[in-house]
Amino acid sequence: MKVVKFGGSSLASGRAVEKVFEIAAADESRKIIVVSAPGKRFPEDEKVTDMLIDCGIYALEKEEVPPKLEKIVERYSRIAAELGLGAEAEEEVRGRLLDTMASGKERPEYFLEKVKACGEDLNARLIAEYFTSRGVEASYVNPGEAGLYVTDEPGNARALPEAYFHLKSLRDRKGIIIFPGFFGYSKLGDVLTFSRSGSDITGSILANGIEAELYENFTDVDAVYSVNPHTVRSPKEIRELTYREMRELSYAGFSVFHDEALIPAYKAGITVNVKNTNNPEAPGTRIVGERDNTNGPVIGIASDKGFCSIYVSKYLMNREIGFGRRILQILEDFGLSYEHTPSGIDDLSIILRQHQFDQAAEEQIAARIKEELEADEVIIEHDLALIMVVGEGMRHNVGTMARASKALAAAKVNIEMINQGSSEVSMMFGVKENDEKRAVKALYEEFFEPARTAVR
Ligand code: ASP
Repeated sequence: MKVVKFGGSSLASGRAVEKVFEIAAADESRKIIVVSAPGKRFPEDEKVTDMLIDCGIYALEKEEVPPKLEKIVERYSRIAAELGLGAEAEEEVRGRLLDTMASGKERPEYFLEKVKACGEDLNARLIAEYFTSRGVEASYVNPGEAGLYVTDEPGNARALPEAYFHLKSLRDRKGIIIFPGFFGYSKLGDVLTFSRSGSDITGSILANGIEAELYENFTDVDAVYSVNPHTVRSPKEIRELTYREMRELSYAGFSVFHDEALIPAYKAGITVNVKNTNNPEAPGTRIVGERDNTNGPVIGIASDKGFCSIYVSKYLMNREIGFGRRILQILEDFGLSYEHTPSGIDDLSIILRQHQFDQAAEEQIAARIKEELEADEVIIEHDLALIMVVGEGMRHNVGTMARASKALAAAKVNIEMINQGSSEVSMMFGVKENDEKRAVKALYEEFFEPARTAVR
């Protein structure tokens, strides 16, 4: 049995849904189809989930039906019409949306959760109806009914261990199951969503739950690329990579597959195959437990902006027991999570995502570190980009760091920070955001186009 997930861009129009049907029908082991909400049809278009969030916020602020609601109804009714479904589809979508909006505003966070989840839920119902109209046995399954229980963390839910046990019984259902992605239910019966783009997570949980032989993740690109195609033209496609490599790459900006979605599949040893809905014959990229190392030290280079670093120095920091704990406690008091902490004997840098705090919080944090820890120096640096150079092959190759830093030096990129060691499959470089693209290009040329580097 396979679990197959289709992203929003694969479900944005009636024609797109027809392709999804063809893919599902082409292989009878494709048992569970997980669907996202309709995504963008063209670059300026709006995703249904974004429109739902706007509607939810509007409904909380004003006691009236949000004007955008009709736009959402129109998205679905157009898809239904393109699929040749009856006009009732439109009424049903409007009715369900109005019903959802009609209650629960006294708990705003949970209200927004159930409104957000409508995108996937309505789509799954519509797609099940379409599959049936094509003469295939298919049914919509609600995550609550299937036992997809999750933690009570709005917008950031995680599957509870018992969910996997309940989901196993989906194996025995007849026909194809159309399952809405992105949300589950708390034990108290509230709808809770995963983090954004979380339908990938649903697919992975289901694959684990039913012990699938494969988890196919259909999106709109032929493969995971070794570097962002917006930075380097026609980069190399990755055929196979490990869960650890994918985790590192998706953490730093590879958005093809949600980083949190790897764990359930990984735990059950299920291969994830990222494929293209518009080119299903292409082999795509396989994410596996182990792979043959035939590609050299590096498999991919990712980068992400929007970081800052808090640099703290204090003479004899290495001798002071509890220094690290106390500094992290200050961050915890401000509700901040951190990403990396490269350190030396007398220095420590903490890298954080910048959007988490404003200038006022920043000043307070610096002041507390200076006072409470009697630090010699506290410097906060903004607008950093992190570049992750990733590959299992690094463990067995000598000189990868030397090659990377030499390439960056040749491109006149000043390295603000390096972190390597804890993870044996990646090296992290912190650079100024202005240098990010230049740095990534230089690293790509070094590791993927050595011939080009040699002639320069
Ligand atoms: N529709 C949700 C989002 O836009 C989840 C998903 O597409 O996977 O984040």
